[in-house]
Amino acid sequence: MTRHLLRQYTAALGALALAAAGAVCIWRGQLGPAAMAGLTVLCLTDIALRAGRRHQRLLEEHEWARRRGAGENPAPLWPCCLLASSSRGRAHSHRCTAPPLHRTDKE
Ligand SMILES: [Zn+2]
Repeated sequence: MTRHLLRQYTAALGALALAAAGAVCIWRGQLGPAAMAGLTVLCLTDIALRAGRRHQRLLEEHEWARRRGAGENPAPLWPCCLLASSSRGRAHSHRCTAPPLHRTDKE
């Protein structure tokens, strides 16, 4: 279990609990707390989805590194690394999966 997966499960559980609390607030006619619970559910759902994507990316990077270590020549992942996607290809992280000749940060 990665820390991303643990974060995903925790956020999803929190979102579920807050959704139930929000439903109870609506049932009691307390719309203010229900609205706050709803907004928090949206934030926790976003956190859970992001953590799930990070977990999936980490698994893909590990599989790519395992195949490379076994002597295979796997195709680079897309994006090649998370730093390249956030820097628009100007920088690459140490875990980049693109071959060095295709990187645009080398001049
Ligand atoms: Zn890269």
